[in-house]
Amino acid sequence: MASRDEVALRRTDVQRRIRIALNAAKAEERASVKGGETTVAFVKEEQCIGCDQCTIVCDDDAIELYDKPLASPLMQVDINRKAKILRDPCTGCRLCVFACPTDAIIMIDR
Ligand code: SF4
Ligand code: SF4
Repeated sequence: MASRDEVALRRTDVQRRIRIALNAAKAEERASVKGGETTVAFVKEEQCIGCDQCTIVCDDDAIELYDKPLASPLMQVDINRKAKILRDPCTGCRLCVFACPTDAIIMIDR
């Protein structure tokens, strides 16, 4: 039977390997998102939940939140916020794409 120390060692090794695999997957995903000055971010409105994460990470003040009235008057919601990209200040840095929890932001050609 494995000792407590051996189990702890194995656990550390597995954690290290999982971390390496996750980092590799993340790097691959990031590399697949185009960016740069020939691109601009675009918000898919239907996927935006107005959480504000993208405006926090955008260093260039290129994202604004606006209130969009709900399509159905049956829904009672005080405010229904959506994000909007300001094309001119957007530098194509992609930070908002990685910050958005609902994958609502994509990069498109300018
Ligand atoms: S790509 Fe960069 S500059 Fe453009 S909106 Fe997203 S975070 Fe802001
Ligand atoms: S991070 Fe995504 S879901 Fe949140 S406000 Fe921005 S675009 Fe909308």
